[in-house]
Amino acid sequence: MTHPLAPPSAYFTGRLETTDPEVHAAIRGEWSRQRDGIELIASENMVSQASLDALGSVLVNKTVEGYPHRRYYGGVEFADAIETLAIERAKTLFGCDYANVQPHSGSQANQAVFLSLLTPGDTILSMSLDAGGHLSHGAPANLTGRWFKPVQYGVATDSGLIDYDEVADLARLHRPRLIICGGSAYPRAIDFARFRVIADEVGACLLADIAHFAGLVAGGQHPSPVGHAHIVTATTYKNLRGVRGGLILTNDAGLAKKIDSAVFPGLQGSTLLNAIAAKAVCLGEALQPEFTLYAERVLTNARALAGMLTDLGITLVTGGTDTPLMLADLRPLGLTGSATSDSLEAAGLTCNKNAVPGDTRPPNVTSGLRFGVSAVTARGFNAEELCATGEWIAEVIHGLAANPDSQSAREARVRHKVLSLCARFPIYPDLP
Ligand SMILES: *Cc1c(COP(=O)(O)O)cnc(C)c1O
Repeated sequence: MTHPLAPPSAYFTGRLETTDPEVHAAIRGEWSRQRDGIELIASENMVSQASLDALGSVLVNKTVEGYPHRRYYGGVEFADAIETLAIERAKTLFGCDYANVQPHSGSQANQAVFLSLLTPGDTILSMSLDAGGHLSHGAPANLTGRWFKPVQYGVATDSGLIDYDEVADLARLHRPRLIICGGSAYPRAIDFARFRVIADEVGACLLADIAHFAGLVAGGQHPSPVGHAHIVTATTYKNLRGVRGGLILTNDAGLAKKIDSAVFPGLQGSTLLNAIAAKAVCLGEALQPEFTLYAERVLTNARALAGMLTDLGITLVTGGTDTPLMLADLRPLGLTGSATSDSLEAAGLTCNKNAVPGDTRPPNVTSGLRFGVSAVTARGFNAEELCATGEWIAEVIHGLAANPDSQSAREARVRHKVLSLCARFPIYPDLP
């Protein structure tokens, strides 16, 4: 006799809504929040229903260690097919010879690069956090900063741009084994060829982390680091418009071998097979001609928003953008990133506070805001909607600076306009 919870009991057949109303209610709440607000957090996007289908599939039941045709468990026929599809699509999309699609996140992709190339105590050269770098590039609080010796370059304070001569000088002085370019809040195109010249001069390996603009690279709207950097890491869930996860790419067979061993067994155990299937879906979508239109539109939209904000008196670091993101400097208005992002959120405009180059405020306060357009572009916004969005952002920001007493009424007014715009751009029409 089977036990009471065996199939076909409600344990197996009941939907979340009835079996766990508390979790279901929170997911419903999050869905309404996404549907009814303008999502400008640069690290977010909106995935296809097909991605959600793959992620929420029976693949979650499978444990798979190793690589296709070199596994440590049985029953891997379909797992091998799925991971091979993801690898082949990544190679085609980015035009490279090797791809590892297993990293659970972008940070783990970067950790795998550290593990494959370095020993603790080795010197690395990367962009500092306040200039727009990433925690996993050697920030003091991160494993990469605690176990390795980071030397960090910033950006020129007047222009906000990478000073390549400074990078070259630091490289000559400190002889790093690894140089990292690419960041979380750097809005301009990176000169990968120049970075490679610097790396070659000191015998360093060059890592390009394209987490924030991987979709633009895939869609031909940003120069590709493939062929310049020895290794490229990316996330699938930001500008690439897929589920959460990381990728590592290279053209070097020797490095590819080291990277594979660093991801498994060096850093991770079993793959998240459902996530790998969803990555395959995302990479397949990015290979469709429509994705080029998406990438083009992301760039047009980013520039439309940047232009509107600038016209309305909001200072942008570097004065604009070549990527999906831009960074507003609130110091001329005397505002903090934390208070301003709270007010924008109350108005239905979600973004994040962010340090600006030379910021003296702590990371939980900051003097800047980061805006990205990947998510709103995915839901169908065009330049017209981004211009409206820019006007509303400016209305909230200038209101907070000039007349904070009436701010809650102002937030409510903007919130109303945001809601009616969002109603015209449904995301998942079948979701209640
Ligand atoms: C987002 C990001 C990552 C990865 O972050 P996870 O949260 O670990 O996925 C890595 N590098 C850069 C530059 C990023 O912006």
